[in-house]
Amino acid sequence: MSEDFHPPLTANAERFSWSLSRDNLFKFCQLAYFFHYYAALGGHYQHCAEPVRLLHRLKQLVSCQQWENNIFSESVREYFLTKSGDDYPVDSDALFNLAHRRFAQGKRSVLLEEWRNDAKLTNLFETYYGEKNFERLFDSAWQNISDQIKTFTGSECFQYLQRLDALAWKRFKPPFEFKLGETAIWLSPDLCWSAQGGIYFLSFTNTDTYNLDQAALYKIFAQTVRNIPPDKTFVCNYNIATGNWTFIDNVSLNISATLEKIDFSTAAMRAKISEYNTVDQDNFEVYSEHCPQCRFRHYCASLRSTAGFISSHCQ
Ligand code: SF4
Repeated sequence: MSEDFHPPLTANAERFSWSLSRDNLFKFCQLAYFFHYYAALGGHYQHCAEPVRLLHRLKQLVSCQQWENNIFSESVREYFLTKSGDDYPVDSDALFNLAHRRFAQGKRSVLLEEWRNDAKLTNLFETYYGEKNFERLFDSAWQNISDQIKTFTGSECFQYLQRLDALAWKRFKPPFEFKLGETAIWLSPDLCWSAQGGIYFLSFTNTDTYNLDQAALYKIFAQTVRNIPPDKTFVCNYNIATGNWTFIDNVSLNISATLEKIDFSTAAMRAKISEYNTVDQDNFEVYSEHCPQCRFRHYCASLRSTAGFISSHCQ
């Protein structure tokens, strides 16, 4: 493989599956989308070309806020999903312990740069791109996670989830993939459970503004794949910063508008794949206003001198 990806790469069109995060990245910058979904593939192999390894590492970068959110949601998932008989932890300290274990592992990976050997281990956007004050960053991250857990364990949402029977967690195991016409759709709610003949999808976010297309997709999935009617499908959002727990009202959903959006978005992404099932870097548009927030800017900066299309933000 050459130093950049101008030669077309093979795209595995059969593995194409649509998700909201895929759509978001396509809108953010098509070149970042190309790096994430095509050029970085295979970067976990020891003997692959260095540019692919670099892209694979950059693909795994998370912002500090994402990392905190991941620790929160993974710990909560483990707390409830391991609920079985006497082993079930009954106090909120157990949740702090689960979160602290993840926090300590992530901190270690960043400080010792363990992510260099295993890109799946935590690496933070901020430290990778120049934040030097590690101590302040980690102190503030743990403070935020602790506050989120304190708020959660005092919340109505936590009290409700605590009361669910262990079996409530066994029936539906996210993530889910299902077919909508010819398109595979990928859904990954933070928590999913069954109760009173219905299905519940919960997302942990930092906002009270819920993505209505996501809520519509949960309803479509429940009805088309699990045969559960819309009035037995409940979608809710828990704001991890404020503890606000809200259910999405059916009236605010527009299923046909969501389906149209997915069709449009899938067509735009598929249009980048040639009839020979290849993708070419040159066909992906650059939205350089997003470079300062982009995980791939290290790689893009290395292309600057040759390609000449990347803005000075990429450095
Ligand atoms: S650094 Fe800029 S141009 Fe490069 S992939 Fe990211 S957003 Fe696109």
